[in-house]
Amino acid sequence: MAQLIDGKRISKEIKDELKAEVDALKGRGIQICLAVVQVGQDPASCVYVNNKKKACAYIGIESESYELPDEVSEEELLALVDRLNHSEHVNGILVQLPLPAHIDEDKIIRAISPDKDVDGFHPVSVGRLWIGEPGFLSCTPAGIIQLLKRSGISMDGKECVVVGRSNIVGKPMAALLLREHATVTMAHSHTKNLWEITKRADILIVAIGKRQFIDAGYVKEGAVVIDVGMHRDDNNKLCGDIVFDEIFEKASAVTPVPGGVGPMTIAMLMNNCVEAVRK
Ligand code: NAP
Repeated sequence: MAQLIDGKRISKEIKDELKAEVDALKGRGIQICLAVVQVGQDPASCVYVNNKKKACAYIGIESESYELPDEVSEEELLALVDRLNHSEHVNGILVQLPLPAHIDEDKIIRAISPDKDVDGFHPVSVGRLWIGEPGFLSCTPAGIIQLLKRSGISMDGKECVVVGRSNIVGKPMAALLLREHATVTMAHSHTKNLWEITKRADILIVAIGKRQFIDAGYVKEGAVVIDVGMHRDDNNKLCGDIVFDEIFEKASAVTPVPGGVGPMTIAMLMNNCVEAVRK
């Protein structure tokens, strides 16, 4: 039976550390402000945005809300980003994705100043990550590194397999594991005989976006398995990309859904907001 990696507990631990750091900064007259931009009222985006604002309130970071209608033009959104880039009060800018189809997401991401890019999606942040310079890290993979470290799981010299190569999870995950001296293999939808590759993994990170796709047959006995996926099962309960019950019996440690990777993403966003003033 596996050790359960408790993302809820670890994210609370990180938020409490950040709260103490933010209190100390306030004592020196330094206040942190995150601008949260939301276009439209997509229900899932509303939940994410509210959770981010709640985390800000808990830690003592000011959050400024910009709620724009669905039909806002790309030019208007770019003008707002430009204004926030130049605001001395705002330290971090978060534009909640996805954006409506008439707005070019890449253009908006590139318009955010790399100094305020708390999501870590700007090409400058991505480049800094790959060449090992300090900078903003993509929140979900940075959270996974913290989950592993704070659960006492070393990555140094380990065989790590990342399934999924998205810009926000898979690719930055591979870069961060390399930074921790792991031997990294990336798999994706064109990978042949996926199970042969995943079975080599001491640490298997699954970010496919397909409900309960990875079962115990893909996993080596005693491996550590991190499930990034987020779905609803037939009973409307949250579940991930792995078949949890089977893997729980075979792995040495595993993340649950909910309560694993999910809470870490917001904790690391908060860390990036503090990082904006640490710099
Ligand atoms: P994505 O952009 O859809 O990327 C999925 C990746 O999986 C792609 O690289 C794709 O390969 C690969 N893939 C798809 N089918 C595959 C297969 N049969 N075998 C091997 N690889 C396959 O998804 P994402 O944004 O990375 O997110 C992944 C999952 O994590 C989603 O369920 C999402 O909801 C969840 N998520 C959770 C959090 C959190 O905070 N908990 C944050 C972000 C994402 P190709 O590149 O070849 O298409």
